[in-house]
Amino acid sequence: MPSLLSSAGGSRCPWLLLGLVPLVAACDAETRGGGGDTGSIDAGVYIDDVALGNDAESEDWLAYGRTYSEQRFSPLDQVNTETVMDLGVAWYMDLPADRGLVSTPLVADGILYFIGSMNRVRAVDAASGEMLWEYDPRVWEVAADRMRAGWEHNRGIALWGDKVYLATWDGRLQALDRENGELVWSTMTVDPDLPLYITGAPKVFKGKVLIGNGGTEIHAARGYVTAYDAETGEEDWRFWIVPGNPADGFENEAMAMAAETWTGEWWEFGGGGNAWHGFTYDPELDQLYIGTGNGSPWDQKVRSPDGGDNLFLTSIVALDPDDGEYLWHYQNTPGETWDFNANMDIVLADLEIEGEARKVLMQAPKNGFFYVIDRTDGSLISAEPYSPVTWATHVDMATGRPVEVPDARYEDGHQIVSPGPAGAHNWHAMSYNPETGLVYIPTIHVNTEFSQEGVDLEAWESPFWRGDMAVSWAIVGSSREDGVTGALQAWDPVRQERVWEIPLDGFWNPGTLTTAGGLVFQGRADGTLWAYDAATGETAWTMDLGLGISAPPVTYSVDGTQYVALLVGWGGGGASGGGEGGWSYGQQMRRLVAFSLDGSVDMPPQPPRVVPEPLKADFAVDESRLALGGDTYERTCGVCHGGGGDAGGMAPDLRASPVVLDAEQFTDILRNGSRAPLGMPRFQGLGDEEIEGIRHYIRWLVENPGGGGSAAAG
Ligand code: CA
Repeated sequence: MPSLLSSAGGSRCPWLLLGLVPLVAACDAETRGGGGDTGSIDAGVYIDDVALGNDAESEDWLAYGRTYSEQRFSPLDQVNTETVMDLGVAWYMDLPADRGLVSTPLVADGILYFIGSMNRVRAVDAASGEMLWEYDPRVWEVAADRMRAGWEHNRGIALWGDKVYLATWDGRLQALDRENGELVWSTMTVDPDLPLYITGAPKVFKGKVLIGNGGTEIHAARGYVTAYDAETGEEDWRFWIVPGNPADGFENEAMAMAAETWTGEWWEFGGGGNAWHGFTYDPELDQLYIGTGNGSPWDQKVRSPDGGDNLFLTSIVALDPDDGEYLWHYQNTPGETWDFNANMDIVLADLEIEGEARKVLMQAPKNGFFYVIDRTDGSLISAEPYSPVTWATHVDMATGRPVEVPDARYEDGHQIVSPGPAGAHNWHAMSYNPETGLVYIPTIHVNTEFSQEGVDLEAWESPFWRGDMAVSWAIVGSSREDGVTGALQAWDPVRQERVWEIPLDGFWNPGTLTTAGGLVFQGRADGTLWAYDAATGETAWTMDLGLGISAPPVTYSVDGTQYVALLVGWGGGGASGGGEGGWSYGQQMRRLVAFSLDGSVDMPPQPPRVVPEPLKADFAVDESRLALGGDTYERTCGVCHGGGGDAGGMAPDLRASPVVLDAEQFTDILRNGSRAPLGMPRFQGLGDEEIEGIRHYIRWLVENPGGGGSAAAG
């Protein structure tokens, strides 16, 4: 058996490295371990509202947050605080053609479904890891130019009836046959001329599939969500998140109401609010909850110059699932100006608060406060900081509004605040364990510097396909010594206080899983997977998987055996810049790994961390090209290749790339999209001067490490 890591770049798909596209991606995944029989491809039970709402069912993981509640709590307890030390690898699947892996696998009737790089969906036997089918939406063929907005990875898929649903980078919503992965329908959810993209999981409920999109930072975006018929893909309803131009008339009364909270000609700037992640449905109350995004652009002085709350930015909006009609909203950051979106996951629970049973929803949005909200009507129950907050002193319970600190809004064009655009919590899932009563939050602690140096606020215009928010930002420092850290914390949502906390070095750590076995599972940016006692935070088990983890674990059961499974593949916005160090592009094998108590498979060790050495070369940097080259690089390339050239592993570090030295090859990649199958966008519109400028800027960065700016993100 040849080494799985023997060929160049850790890939067993040399034609992919060469930019040649096989007709079928058959070189792809390969499984080791597992026992068992070949899975017959029987998609099993029909998945409906009853199945998706059944928190007591234990074998499956049917939805993004396991069930409609989004608790990520499993009733399984074979793996528990007593037995977890026996946890070992049951099987693993090498994914050499994948890169960033951030998604939550789903499991139904012994079949595990997941979405990987370039939105490829695979179904595998959940007990043996054997591949059953693979579907590739061929994003690079459909939309190589549009891949410059957003990322090649996606956070999840959905199951309903006999189908699997995925949303693609370029904005398509698709239904696949669960039995064979064949495409049933596909519908375009965005205007293909606009720089909108999808990285989120579709949400299914009542025979409908809902999806939103991202793109707030790269054009005059106006956010919306759309529900489609799950059987046919026909549009059912659309809800706009911010009002358009009043002269065009408002779509509904909610938009007329929202328009009262905006000033100036906000519609010229789009307004923003894009809903790219948190969607939760409550079947009992029959309400749909949408977490909404930040402003477009970020700076409210530009977007809505005379202030205003700017509804429905950074809010939880409750909608009627049948027709998308507005029911209520709670806005956590009125008039937001820091990218403090409320797109984070929305978790439902029934809590006893001051002796009263309350139906609540919980969210830990970017702004640093943990919110407990009555989900029947949106009234605020409590809000306390779960991370250091310097932009506001507290949330006033009489008004439900944050009390801001003077000057927090960078009125004079500069301010350092905590948290920032990375959030105190981002999309990495939190979980809630009804037995401990605790929420497990992957937390980010950073200070963020906002600066408008060089920004002409009077003349500012919305960008188109490039990052420009009318303010730039950067995390202050890069290490624990600088105050850049993360934490896993257990939070009591009733008392609104921290119960225990595990400090973590990296700030970009993945989502959590909690179980009736009294455990919390979480991977880390440093490549290790941990199980803790859910009540105390004491370490119960750990294993080094050799590559930064960005995806949350799930658990399920097949034929009496409980499995814990997760994808291993450093990815997401926080993986685009440096910071963690060493998860270099193409070095370590991406994997899907399943663990069980009798698992005993040895995985080949990963190559050690390597920070690519900048390439020494005879290249005369023309300094007159640096202004254009630097601006073009930071606004179009930096989002994946890293601000200032400091790549985090999601894309190659160009300072180490020989391609930069070869003008002809470099131009071919950019202009003709010769590496589009690998996720490298085509930039047909880039001029010769810009392309030359980028080359000179990258080579200048080799000689001036740390000299560049920060990239747009989030
Ligand atoms: Ca944003």
